[in-house]
Amino acid sequence: MSPPGIVGAVYVCAECGEEAAVVELVPRGAKHPDFEADDFLSAPGTLVSRDVIGERMTAVEEADLEPIAERLAAAGRADTPLSGAEHSRSFCPERRACYCQEHWKFEPVFEDGGWYDCTYGTCPRGHRTMLDD
Ligand SMILES: [Zn+2]
Ligand SMILES: [Zn+2]
Repeated sequence: MSPPGIVGAVYVCAECGEEAAVVELVPRGAKHPDFEADDFLSAPGTLVSRDVIGERMTAVEEADLEPIAERLAAAGRADTPLSGAEHSRSFCPERRACYCQEHWKFEPVFEDGGWYDCTYGTCPRGHRTMLDD
């Protein structure tokens, strides 16, 4: 039996139409052209988001594989282009839109001692949200 395939979605910036995020669900055992098998987490699935903050991998439990795959697959449809976009850090939950690196205004926050804490972003419509922590 061949491993189940990768499901992915591309989201574009609501301001300029440039690519804002790529989110892919990689089931354990699936081959990804950009990664080695041991780059992935030892969970039933790994959710890979390449977005305005960088690359993030999140473990996906068995029960979540199907619902997330369905959300990402729906992103390819004209009436639900942002389905699953909340899995990326390019997404403004208030506007329900994605923005590229150029259109988010980033504010990285550092703790005493210079440790990275989190990053806030302000979208072009002025919504401030925590993008990464
Ligand atoms: Zn916004
Ligand atoms: Zn943009």
